[in-house]
Amino acid sequence: MNEIQHLIDGVASPSTSGNDGPIFDPATGQQTGTVALASVAEVDAAVASARSAFDGWSEVSLARRTKLMYEFRNLLVANADGVAARLSAEHGKVLDDARGEVARGIENVEFACGIADALKGLHSEGASTGVDVYTVRRPLGVVAGITPFNFPAMVPMWMFPNAIACGNTFVLKPSERDPSAPLFIAELFQEAGFPPGVLNVVNGDKVAVDRLVEHPDVKAVSFVGSTPIARYVYASATANGKRAQAMGGAKNHMIVLPDADLDMAADAAVSAAYGSAGERCMAISVVVAVGDAGDRLVEAIRVRMEKLVIGPGTDPASEMGPLITREARDRVAGYIQAGADAGCRVVVDGRDQAFDGDGFFLGVSLLDHVTTDMSVYTDEIFGPVLSVVRADSYAEGAQMIRDNPFGNGAAIFTRDGGAARQFQQDADAGMVGINVPIPVPVGYHSFGGWNDSAFGDHTIYGPEGLRFYTRPKVITSRWPDPSTSGVDLGFPRND
Ligand code: NAD
Repeated sequence: MNEIQHLIDGVASPSTSGNDGPIFDPATGQQTGTVALASVAEVDAAVASARSAFDGWSEVSLARRTKLMYEFRNLLVANADGVAARLSAEHGKVLDDARGEVARGIENVEFACGIADALKGLHSEGASTGVDVYTVRRPLGVVAGITPFNFPAMVPMWMFPNAIACGNTFVLKPSERDPSAPLFIAELFQEAGFPPGVLNVVNGDKVAVDRLVEHPDVKAVSFVGSTPIARYVYASATANGKRAQAMGGAKNHMIVLPDADLDMAADAAVSAAYGSAGERCMAISVVVAVGDAGDRLVEAIRVRMEKLVIGPGTDPASEMGPLITREARDRVAGYIQAGADAGCRVVVDGRDQAFDGDGFFLGVSLLDHVTTDMSVYTDEIFGPVLSVVRADSYAEGAQMIRDNPFGNGAAIFTRDGGAARQFQQDADAGMVGINVPIPVPVGYHSFGGWNDSAFGDHTIYGPEGLRFYTRPKVITSRWPDPSTSGVDLGFPRND
């Protein structure tokens, strides 16, 4: 049994709480380890370590921060397969997908390597006679990051590299379902040479989260997870006077217009709906088929689904792995039944596919003629279920997105530039894809949804991330004319 502990003050820190939780290999259904669940005292120890590291770290030069971040980036690249293997073993995602996750995390570390350029301030020379005004951005102090199970490597790297590059210190509370990859990444970070206490990891559950969001020495909280917990963490953190950003759940729509390249759209729908078993906050869960696109598109998706290979993430032939837990699988299966009971057409029923062993596998499902009052439409299912809603017009599809409470991503498939441009304005979502089903921004833009998909006014990573992790200080300076102190510079002062 693998026993996962904390990393506090630069060293592995055995649990003292006496509480732990089980870790499973979702492909076998077997328990493979335990994870320590931190007590309030353990969280306090991690925050104290980060607090005492802050004074020194915030004064470390940009040159040194950059050098260490490059070391970390290189260690990540060298150990990418090790991170991917840990992801696959505890999350269940296929290795290709796991490697993709690591690569997208590294993208954020590479952005943080550019901190010296990105943190340059603003300067107004000669605002008045002899007066200059300039703005610098200072770190906040200790920042906490609370992350979900579905991207246990990438989402922490949306946060701590930028926060630490800005001069903050960090306490990460990863998901208790798959904590090995983030802990391994934190060990690589230590190995890169960052001082102890700059990055701490406390494993845990609600107890740890509640302590982090109330702790007086935590100055900011970055959260990514489901909408109810995002709302709760945002409310608690801000009530405790902290800066907070909380990314929530999603229900991402993909509108397919009749003029779209339907093969391209069907390929995109299959990979965006079923990749990572649908456990992505940017997964496509609703296809809005406009006009006569519907029948052809549903058939094109169905044909592709037959070829999808579902199996253990570690098998190179697998294209989709199991779900995260037995409960998640059963909950998702319940939605297929709810859809059937509500009257939609179950084109492919994932429950029909049999799997050997006790893994948390579920086949892929396609539901057609879904209507907006059905629970398969209203709820975030977070599993390999794709709903198709039929619409008579583009406007009906765009209105559907506007009426939906979530607003993470939205995509359109069309060959018409005018329609695409209109959609980019109409889509009530923070990230928009044009013939791109999962428009996760590159690391030098920022990630974040709208409406119930995000709380707080700064999106995560990229330039918005740097603004979230720093606060401005404006300096107004006046220097007397040097001649008044007897220094003759040889030039008259020009008032
Ligand atoms: P979750 O909300 O259950 O858990 C997220 C974190 O909150 C975990 O660290 C967990 O320990 C903690 N937590 C859980 N319950 C809590 C409680 N009652 N009080 C305090 N803390 C609590 O989410 P999850 O199941 O791990 O992840 C899946 C969800 O995350 C989906 O809804 C998905 O859409 C969302 N997600 C969103 C984004 C985004 O950027 N918008 C990215 C990835 C995942």
